[in-house]
Amino acid sequence: MTGFEDNIRKVTPYTPGEQPKENVIKLNTNENPYSPTKEVKAVLENIDTDKLRLYPDPCASELIEALSREYEIPEKQIFAGVGSDDVLAMSFLTFFNGEKKILFPDVSYSFYKVWAGLYGIPYEEIKVDDTFRINPEDYYKENGGVIIANPNAPTSLYLDIEEVEAIVSHNKDSVVIIDEAYIDFAKESAKGLINKYENLLVVQTFSKSRSMAGMRIGFAFGSEKLITYLNDAKYAFNSYTLNLVSIKSGVASLSDRAYFEKCVNQIVKTREESKIKFRNLGFKVLDSATNFVFVKHEKYHAKDIFIKAKERGIYVRYWDSPRINEYLRITIGTESEMESLFYFLHDYIQKER
Ligand SMILES: *Cc1c(COP(=O)(O)O)cnc(C)c1O
Repeated sequence: MTGFEDNIRKVTPYTPGEQPKENVIKLNTNENPYSPTKEVKAVLENIDTDKLRLYPDPCASELIEALSREYEIPEKQIFAGVGSDDVLAMSFLTFFNGEKKILFPDVSYSFYKVWAGLYGIPYEEIKVDDTFRINPEDYYKENGGVIIANPNAPTSLYLDIEEVEAIVSHNKDSVVIIDEAYIDFAKESAKGLINKYENLLVVQTFSKSRSMAGMRIGFAFGSEKLITYLNDAKYAFNSYTLNLVSIKSGVASLSDRAYFEKCVNQIVKTREESKIKFRNLGFKVLDSATNFVFVKHEKYHAKDIFIKAKERGIYVRYWDSPRINEYLRITIGTESEMESLFYFLHDYIQKER
């Protein structure tokens, strides 16, 4: 290595799912198969491009106000960022600044390890059990912070709110972050606990349930204290995170609750129907509370199915990593996309037999 490289920060980056250029059936990155509400389209068509001369509102006030109205949470308890990845990255920087290890499940969103590496945060991965369940008691020990995705990815499993609360209440000396990227497809959010626990941060996103992955909007709910610390770090890093177009389209998305609920309900319905179809084909399916399923075939190897599906223009997600290398993570698409997937799977099983 040449001299100047000694002083360079070396990081292991996160590997995002493929974004193919061609037209494929894309069930690999948990995007929503339905368009955002037409309110978003209307806003985009009416953007006053002259306004792009100006910096956007650093507080993203319009969006914070809209989130406050929609979720009935005071503005001072809301933070917004460029997707929840930005919110989470900022939260790691702000809240996990101690010497003790932070804790997260060994099977979870792989970005947690990447941020810990980037910032030099010591961490311990806590094993989920053989059924991929998170055991709250494993988190009742000294730590520098806790982060849990609920529902978890890629397992798709939801941890009951009582168990989430148990983790938070046993960790009053550290910040507990609950990453709720998929909560709208599941049951109760932990946001109802933010006034009971000052150390709790709940992070959500527009990327999955609101069909806006391309717009990059994420947000967090927490005590005024946590949100203030988070904003201090943000303004020490980059004041103008959300751009004018994102702010306005986020507001538009929140204005159409009926459409949001309709799309979420449709995905949940397709998910439940798909679970049965997968099982009928000999797959083991974890009890998903998300917009994807985590499945394993009793006879055929996940990697082979992954490769053959791709040849047929159907993209799903596969990780060649310990504990999960027999599984596929498959996003719930439209009914017709799922039909194509099941058509392929039937065909695959016939051929392999
Ligand atoms: C998708 C996802 C995110 C990131 O979503 P953004 O698009 O950055 O909002 C965060 N956490 C989990 C568990 C996810 O699956």
